[in-house]
Amino acid sequence: MTITEMFQTKRCVFSIECFPPKQTTQMDKMKTTLTAMQKLNPDFISVTFGAGGSAGGVSTVEVADFIQNELHIPALAHLICMGNDEASAAEVLNRLDAIGVRDVLALRGDRTPARPESPNFAHASDLAHFIKYKKPHFSVHGACYPEGHPESETLRKDVENLCIKQRAGAEHLLTQLFFDNTCFYRFLNLARRAGVTLPISAGVMPIVKRSQIERTVALSSASLPSEFTRMISRWQDDPAALYDAGIDYAVRQLRDLIEGGADGVHLYAMNDAAVAEKLYDGIRDLL
Ligand code: FAD
Repeated sequence: MTITEMFQTKRCVFSIECFPPKQTTQMDKMKTTLTAMQKLNPDFISVTFGAGGSAGGVSTVEVADFIQNELHIPALAHLICMGNDEASAAEVLNRLDAIGVRDVLALRGDRTPARPESPNFAHASDLAHFIKYKKPHFSVHGACYPEGHPESETLRKDVENLCIKQRAGAEHLLTQLFFDNTCFYRFLNLARRAGVTLPISAGVMPIVKRSQIERTVALSSASLPSEFTRMISRWQDDPAALYDAGIDYAVRQLRDLIEGGADGVHLYAMNDAAVAEKLYDGIRDLL
C-alpha cells in the first residue's frame, strides 16, 4: 500500500521522522535505532535532508534505502530547494527511483549562510512541480505550519500558499511541531475552508531533555501553553522527572489529536528509539 493509500484507508496514519547521522561511522548505530523503531509498526518513516543529505556524512538516500529495502517500511525522503538546482535534484530523484523509494517531501529548506538559494526552485511548490514532471509515478508530500510559517505575514496568507502546493501535486502535508493542539485545530479549520483537501499529519516532538528546551523550544516560534511552561519550569533541573513529564505531555497531546480526528500523527523522536517506543505505548490502543 502506498503512503497516499494509507490515508484513504486508515483511521490515523502513524509515522516517525529520523535524520541521517553526521558521520558514516554512526550508520551502524542508526540501523540499530531504526530496527528498534520497526517494532512500533510505523506506517512510514521520513528521513530529513540536511548536513547528511548534502555535505558528507550519511545521505538521505542511504538511510531511506535501509528503511525501505531492509526494514520493508515505506520511506519518505525529504528533498530541499536550497543548494539544489534541477540537475542535482534530478540526480537525487534518480537515486531514489533506483532503490524503489517513490515518496518525496518537497521542501524549500531553511535559509542559512552555508546554503545558496536554488537557481531553479524559489518555493517548495516549484520543486513539487519538477518532481511530478521528472517522475510522474512519485508521490509528493509537503510541509505546513499550524502557527504560520515565520516568513508569512499572516496565517491566512500561508494557508493560501498551501493551495499552490496542493495544485502542484502534493498528496499529503506534514506539520511543523507544535505544543498547543488548539493551534492545530484552528489551522485545520482555516485550511479546509481555504480549499486544502489533502490529509494532514500532526507533528509532535516530546521535550525530554534540558538541551531541547534551549535548542528547540527557545528557537521555535511555537506557542507554549501554560501547562507546558509549568512542566518545564518545574522539572528542568531534574533530568529523570523532565523525561517522564515530557513523555506524558506528548502522549496526552497525541491522544487528543487522534481522538480529535487527525489524519495522521508524526513523531519527531530525534533518532531516539526508546522515546518513540514510550510514545507508541501511550497511543497504540487508539491506532
Ligand atoms: P515553502 O512552501 O516554499 O514556504 C516558505 C514560505 O514561502 C512560506 O512563508 C510560504 O507561505 C511562502 N510561499 C510558499 N509558496 C509560495 C508561492 N508560490 N508564492 C509566494 N510565497 C510562497 N528543512 C531542511 O533543511 N531539511 C529537512 O529535511 C526539513 N524537513 C522538514 C519537515 C517538516 C515537516 C517541516 C515542517 C519543515 C522541515 N524543514 C526542513 C524546514 C523547512 O525547510 C523550512 O521551514 C523552510 O523555511 C520552509 O519550507 P517549506 O517547504 O514549507 O517552504
